[in-house]
Amino acid sequence: MTKWVYGFGGGGAEGSADMRDLLGGKGANLAEMSSLGFPVPPGFTITTEVCTHYSETGGAYPDSLEAEVEQALAGVEEIAGARFGDPQRPLLLSVRSGARASMPGMMDTVLNLGLNAETVKGLTAMSDDERFACDSYRRFIQMYGDVVLGVAYHHFEDLLEDHKLDRGVTLDTELDADDWRLLVGAYLKKAKEILGQPFPGNPKEQLWGGIAAVFRSWDNNRAITYRKLHGIPDDWGTAVNVQAMVFGNMGNDSATGVCFTRNPSTGENAYYGEFLVNAQGEDVVAGIRTPQSLTIAEREASHTDLPALQEVMPDIYAELLEVRRMMEGHYRDMQDMEFTVQQSKLWMLQTRTGKRTTNAALKIAVDMVDEGLIGVDEAIRRIDPAQLDQLLHPSLDPSAERKVLGRGLPASPGAASGRVVFNAEDAEGLAQKGEDVVLVRVETSPEDIGGMHVSKGILTTRGGMTSHAAVVARGMGVPCVAGAGEFRVDYGEKIMEVGGTVVREGDVITVDGATGEVMLGEVPTIHPELTGDFVKLMGWADKVRTLGVRANAETPADAETARKFGAEGIGLSRTEHMFFEPRRIVHMREMILAADEGERRAALDKLLPYQRQDFVQLFTIMAGLPVTIRLLDPPLNEFIPQSEEGLAEVAAAAGIDVSAARARAALLKEGNPMLGHRGCRLGITFPEIYEMQARAIFEAASEVAKGGEKVVPEVMIPLIVTRGEFVILKDVIERVAAEVKEATGVRVEYLVGTMIELPRAVLLAGDIAKAAQFFSFGTNDLTQTTYGLSRDDTAHIVEIYRDKGLFKDDPFASLDTEGVGELVRIGVERGRATRPDLKLGICGEHGGDPASVHFCQKVGLDYVSCSPYRVPIARLAAAQAALGVKVETNA
Ligand code: ADP
Ligand code: MG
Ligand code: MG
Repeated sequence: MTKWVYGFGGGGAEGSADMRDLLGGKGANLAEMSSLGFPVPPGFTITTEVCTHYSETGGAYPDSLEAEVEQALAGVEEIAGARFGDPQRPLLLSVRSGARASMPGMMDTVLNLGLNAETVKGLTAMSDDERFACDSYRRFIQMYGDVVLGVAYHHFEDLLEDHKLDRGVTLDTELDADDWRLLVGAYLKKAKEILGQPFPGNPKEQLWGGIAAVFRSWDNNRAITYRKLHGIPDDWGTAVNVQAMVFGNMGNDSATGVCFTRNPSTGENAYYGEFLVNAQGEDVVAGIRTPQSLTIAEREASHTDLPALQEVMPDIYAELLEVRRMMEGHYRDMQDMEFTVQQSKLWMLQTRTGKRTTNAALKIAVDMVDEGLIGVDEAIRRIDPAQLDQLLHPSLDPSAERKVLGRGLPASPGAASGRVVFNAEDAEGLAQKGEDVVLVRVETSPEDIGGMHVSKGILTTRGGMTSHAAVVARGMGVPCVAGAGEFRVDYGEKIMEVGGTVVREGDVITVDGATGEVMLGEVPTIHPELTGDFVKLMGWADKVRTLGVRANAETPADAETARKFGAEGIGLSRTEHMFFEPRRIVHMREMILAADEGERRAALDKLLPYQRQDFVQLFTIMAGLPVTIRLLDPPLNEFIPQSEEGLAEVAAAAGIDVSAARARAALLKEGNPMLGHRGCRLGITFPEIYEMQARAIFEAASEVAKGGEKVVPEVMIPLIVTRGEFVILKDVIERVAAEVKEATGVRVEYLVGTMIELPRAVLLAGDIAKAAQFFSFGTNDLTQTTYGLSRDDTAHIVEIYRDKGLFKDDPFASLDTEGVGELVRIGVERGRATRPDLKLGICGEHGGDPASVHFCQKVGLDYVSCSPYRVPIARLAAAQAALGVKVETNA
């Protein structure tokens, strides 16, 4: 029989940390902590399988669930020494969500469950504090009303605000027991008014209502959006954790907080956290009051006067230090923990692997190797390759002038400028128009994630380093300044004010998430140098990986970047990109619109020196590393002038009249250019084009070789479908190479190979390999032609297919391993069968996608090639592939 419920508490547990699929992360770790002897309030976890059952049956439970819950609840009552629903000694419960992957704040939790008109009296007697009991009761009505019954939060907030106004107070803490008692009455009345029936007082009914609400919250919009953004499968489901309440709001010897075993922003090996005295649960993350630091060091660093936990509760701090030591020793990774102090007794409520910035991740991994906690392989495994992207975020140019408006907490690194918007919806609207936006909020909530995602930067005026805005922004790699208290935001007027300056919606500001500074206007940024822990870890990765990593680059700047990021050569240099510059494009157009070979050669002669100079630069920068040069590939009509001025300019350069130029342009028009006159078909119809390009390559190579530098050009012919085409063009290239050698007396080693980017080329790979010395899988075109989908025009279709679950991922971003990938595999097999030493690479966008890199390793490619900025990502992904790290591929 399937077991649906797992108990924990009292120094033991039925579950453990390795059962996260079944118990969710929170449940598995509550069990683990309990077994390890940490003080965990007793409770039980209802498995994720029940969630799946619930979804599949439209809201029904397995038959034996109720009995299992009853039994587990009895166990909790036994350990807690209180009974659920008992008017004298009532046990109160929290009902908490918790999926396999952490989804902070995306799903629901209800606290203080079990309160009603009777039990609140028991709670008053037990605590000898009516204020506390009534406050807990109204919190429960508010949370349960909102989460379970759908009575919006603001109904209750309004009542509270009105009451405070009547009483002439501003803070919740100024209200006494009488106030809260009155408010409880008002809340209950309000709920009844809206629901048309009384607020449920029966604790069992409350419990099952809470459980169902958590299961339902798996499918709320923000959870769905979060899963989509983070690639979490919809069918995982959440577990439900039911746990005895402990109270951080039982007076000044009570508190609640969160702590990280190391600093999640910098990675520094120092305790880091925030807490609030006399507060409950979500008060810290919600940013309702500004929290205090855990340690004195941190308090001093943040220049606040609020005392640290280390000062106000030294004994609890000492206990937490011991918790930190044991947690890191056990989990061997940085932990993010929730704790609550109830009348000077410490309780641990959650631990999970802490989210961190990329810099922190690198530092922690490298430090932990040095400390002997983990090995080098584990350090490599720990870093998410996609996360390295964050390191490439720009920072403010230190020499640039700046007008600092004010400061907040440096919550997520990187600097960004953009137009100010005051809500998530406006952020999405403006971003869609292509504008850079900075989202400014008093505080953010999970509803805002869509808007946060499209923002270049985020600024909040309330909340700490662990507030919602800070945590989510760090995860997304969006620069964020949080808790900038000197700023006053007016949502109604859509303005914010600081030190006499008024910033309106649409004004440009700059936020620096590394320093917490907020500036007026756009401040120029610079790209960081990659040093220290990054270099060390990448060095380890390079030792482990077997797959080569090259870059797609054609300009000197790109080539420099590629080398800086550790590329081992160029895997794709798109020669057509060298012609876009205004002075060159005229001659390019002249060449395209030429009436005959003579005119074409005349235009090509003008292009030759430019092209040669480009190659000299590339070869020099790449200093002996292989450089793959693809001969002209694009549909010619991409270069046809669209405007009259353009036509006139070309006509003048070519010495023909405009009407002739216009007529030739019309002749070149194609209905389906992507499947038309492009790639090697240009070389077949106009061999002189490839001839010129080959000449430029070999003359440049000889020039650089003469200077003593090693040069290894790999000449690549695009869009081949038959060996015959390839042989004709290879002959052209070899002839030119021989001529240049003859003329210069310099011998240059080179290879001639082909792109494999059409299904026919894959199928005939064995034959093509008889002539080709290398293959580079052009998976962009191969994906287009395999799916019959144009990459340029079908983004919205792909989106719809993903929403309907027809495509797991965008096949243009992550290689479709079962379709396009299968073609790559066949191409590899057939090519290598003919020519065992055939050099194999990939040069589509996929070369920088970690999951695709894993696939390339699996099918035995020699290298991947990707855009320069993704080279570090590919290097790390390749190392992880070599270590056998599992990834979700797009299939
Ligand atoms: P989330 O996943 O959003 O953090 P949690 O289930 O951890 O949601 O709960 C939300 C808040 O309620 C946290 O601050 C947590 O510490 C607090 N909380 C949860 N269960 C209890 C409990 N049994 N006693 C006291 N506080 C609790
Ligand atoms: Mg939590
Ligand atoms: Mg192509």
